Amino acid sequence: MICVVCRESHTVSGFSSISFARDEFRAVVHQVPAQVCPACGESFLDEATTIDLLKRVEQILEEGVLDVVHDYA
Ligand SMILES: [Zn+2]
Repeated sequence: MICVVCRESHTVSGFSSISFARDEFRAVVHQVPAQVCPACGESFLDEATTIDLLKRVEQILEEGVLDVVHDYA
């Protein structure tokens, strides 16, 4: 698809790192499958991945660790 942010390039399949923060808690999830724009670097997750990722992050944050780095795969 054409990148909706810069409209300069087609996105390609790749991986992205997504970070979340809630209060003092931070979680970073690496290796999330995503469509990535080679021009501006914006990444886009599909709906199923987004839902799954949010569930995982919810669990990670529930554990109450302040700084978490997690691999999606
Ligand atoms: Zn772009």
